[in-house]
Amino acid sequence: MENLKHDIKTVLITREQIAKRVREMGQQITKDYAGKEIVLVGILKGAMPFLCDLMREIDLPVILDTMVVSSYGDATTSSGLVKIKKDLDSDIRGRHVIVVEDIIDTGITMAALTPILEKRGAASVELAIFLDKRERREKEVNVKYIGYEIPDKFIVGYGCDYAQKYRNLPEICELDNKVFAQAK
Ligand code: 5GP
Repeated sequence: MENLKHDIKTVLITREQIAKRVREMGQQITKDYAGKEIVLVGILKGAMPFLCDLMREIDLPVILDTMVVSSYGDATTSSGLVKIKKDLDSDIRGRHVIVVEDIIDTGITMAALTPILEKRGAASVELAIFLDKRERREKEVNVKYIGYEIPDKFIVGYGCDYAQKYRNLPEICELDNKVFAQAK
């Protein structure tokens, strides 16, 4: 990434570390759901690279689906509701669902989405989230599969954006301050 590297301050998690951890997560899911079929629900757009990598590490029948969601308001005013901008294509009644997400921060989005999927009659709903900003949590959420816990820093790459850019970086990075300064 010769061009984009000029915008990066630090690489927090390398390509190799990502690949290793995703493989472990896929193996764990394969073990935990042995004999079952899973519906993987990727939350667009951030979860795309993680979803693509994770599904190829799961040695079970997998149905792929996606949603686009956004939480209402900010952390202090949120009513704890999510707006579904793009819903699932499949019926999840009686199915084992794993929601695949890039980052959990306050937890507001996932805390609101999980009960919606449960109410649709899923046999089970669990979360697989690559990055966990644990110290920022406001809503208690049970995350079964976590890639890495990270400190309270704004990160980009591996699906995570800044102003819709940098999702294509293959590493988890912190941006150089000049990028934010230029955006003002
Ligand atoms: P929350 O858990 O607060 O409801 O929201 C999580 C969402 O906030 C993530 O899916 C992601 O879109 C966004 N987010 C949280 N922290 C970061 C970050 O450091 N970088 C980027 N690009 N997005 C973040």
